[in-house]
Amino acid sequence: MTETQKDPFAAAASFNAGVYGTGLRPVRADRLAEAVRRLLRAAGSEEQEAAVVADHLVEANLRGHDSHGVGMLAMYMPAIAAGLLRPNQHATVIGRSGPFLAVGGGSGYGQVIAREAMDLAIEQARREGLAVLSLRDSHHIGRVGSYGEQCSDAGLVALAFVNVVTRPAVAPHDGTRPRLGTNPICIAVPGTDATPALVLDFATSAVAVGKCRVAMGKGQEMAPGLLLDPQGDPTQDPGVMFQDPSGALLPLGGHKGFGLALMCDVLAGALASAMPGTPSHQNSGRVMNNMFAIVFDPARGGNAQWAADLDDLVAYVRDTPTVPGVDAIQMPGEPESRTRRQRLADGIPLDGATLAMLDSLGRERGLDLGELLA
Ligand code: NAD
Repeated sequence: MTETQKDPFAAAASFNAGVYGTGLRPVRADRLAEAVRRLLRAAGSEEQEAAVVADHLVEANLRGHDSHGVGMLAMYMPAIAAGLLRPNQHATVIGRSGPFLAVGGGSGYGQVIAREAMDLAIEQARREGLAVLSLRDSHHIGRVGSYGEQCSDAGLVALAFVNVVTRPAVAPHDGTRPRLGTNPICIAVPGTDATPALVLDFATSAVAVGKCRVAMGKGQEMAPGLLLDPQGDPTQDPGVMFQDPSGALLPLGGHKGFGLALMCDVLAGALASAMPGTPSHQNSGRVMNNMFAIVFDPARGGNAQWAADLDDLVAYVRDTPTVPGVDAIQMPGEPESRTRRQRLADGIPLDGATLAMLDSLGRERGLDLGELLA
């Protein structure tokens, strides 16, 4: 792979050009989902697929992860046109061996493929206590926490390691050029009567690439210590991620995030999917995700009292004096739940760039989405 290969994230970012600082407009979640459903239908998806993908994207916005919300359509639509993302595919079991379950996605919408693959893993974990899932050949799966929630809603624990196969974005620790994806990790634990489900879900880079796109859309700089420019020097300009050659994100927490990102490429890529993030797989201009997930029944994990012990642990951790300006210790998943409640009530604040992008994608397909997005 060369360092100047095609960047699918640039498609999403290019819509930001010239519309910096155009302000935020709140859009009701149900109206936004309807607009996205219509767009997806016009782009070839059957009704059910359009609903699943639209709901996933809007849910990401509702939970505050605008980086993985409806803005992703700017990347998905050109990918369909280029034949890199294939609508109306379904998860296919390609192998089973003991607890291992291998599933292929036919380059379909990751939101559909990963959801169906998790359904299969959930079914097996309920029956056998354990499923070890390797999902391959899926287009971008979006917010990984969504699949964690799918498992925790089913009363199961999930550990998911995802690799991102596309132009690399993250520099190894002590490196100056990108070599890894933003490889996210999710750990989800079901809630009890006293404790909500714990959903830890983050990129192993200091920030997700999508957060740079969102910052660009708002005309904002990134915080210091997150980005390198193409020369390997520190910068706060999110635009470096969409240049050619691009800059690089730093790994989360230095050598620790680097190690986690590498292990995502090892577990989800090299060991499970025959699609590691190595150069031969990065040159297609698309964004693929592979996922290695362990799904198990906590009641069969060795401690019959797990729920009570979890409640005790969480209560003990919550009972920590906080730093000035912070009311309470939050558990993983709680910031997203709070944002969701707020955005359901007040609307999802969309920036001018995202609204212009949706409007333009609609017009290209003969749709007027103006009324839904007003
Ligand atoms: P982030 O930095 O916002 O971290 C989110 C995690 O931290 C959540 O578990 C959240 O509950 C927890 N958290 C946040 N603030 C907290 C607080 N004050 N106290 C306690 N816990 C707190 O997330 P990110 O790294 O920007 O990732 C955003 C999204 O991007 C994720 O949903 C991830 O799955 C997704 N992503 C997807 C891909 C892909 O290729 N599909 C790649 C990278 C990231």
